[in-house]
Amino acid sequence: MSKTKKNPKTKQPDLAATAATEKLTSLGSSVLAKIYQKISEKNHTLHDDEPVLATTWAIGQQHVSDRDFYEELCYHMFAAGFSRQVVRDKWPAHRQAFADFDPSKVAMLDDDLIETLVTDKALIRNRRKLTAVITNARKLLVMINDHGSVDSWLRSYPEAEFYLLHRKLADTFDCVGRSAAEWFMLSTGLPYHFETNDARRLLGRLGLLPKGRKDESYNRVMQTLQAASGVSTWEISIDLWRFASGFRMQESICAEAPHCPKCPLWDDCDYFNQEN
Ligand code: SF4
Repeated sequence: MSKTKKNPKTKQPDLAATAATEKLTSLGSSVLAKIYQKISEKNHTLHDDEPVLATTWAIGQQHVSDRDFYEELCYHMFAAGFSRQVVRDKWPAHRQAFADFDPSKVAMLDDDLIETLVTDKALIRNRRKLTAVITNARKLLVMINDHGSVDSWLRSYPEAEFYLLHRKLADTFDCVGRSAAEWFMLSTGLPYHFETNDARRLLGRLGLLPKGRKDESYNRVMQTLQAASGVSTWEISIDLWRFASGFRMQESICAEAPHCPKCPLWDDCDYFNQEN
């Protein structure tokens, strides 16, 4: 009997994505709000410290001027993949070396200055990142020129499209990857749903997010969940992440090896019906 070969160029329907979208729609606001409420209440029984705030990770106290935004961007660029405490301790020296992060002054610096800076033990001596401080100042000035200010540029994106801004930041600025772009957005108070593998895994097990998708579907699910529950972007992001990662709690619930007997979401969860 001859077998029919599949044409690899024929686009197969994304059944997992369709099923997740259908489930999200069919649950309705009251059920989604209840799911979030169960997560939040369980978290409160598992931690007893101060609330986790986005501003904990910021280097600046406020984000108003172009300088404030530029400094925050540079800080998260240096902090990515490095000890935040070391970067924070050395930060006064960076302010001194880079004209207190005035982007118009930094953009004028001579590229040869890097040869001196890479020998300065007071600084994070990463040539690529030190160079990126100067090149990114020049790139930021283009945005300022086009939009009037960094704030206006960032706010030119509707909230529902902040995932596009996240990509734009990572694509535009040197040495600013997805993680640094995300921390920049959170630290400057932009209502962006931060995306962790733990939270993705949780939403996947609940059947609300198809596996392996790295597109806007995460953002869409979070927006729907947030609209139903009426809490802030930060609150819902941190609650889902902590529930699945255990960050600063006694234990996680929906960890890599899930603690289902302790989980309040058993009735809402598809995990044991899924092919793993
Ligand atoms: S029931 Fe288990 S798999 Fe489902 S969300 Fe809870 S801990 Fe995770």
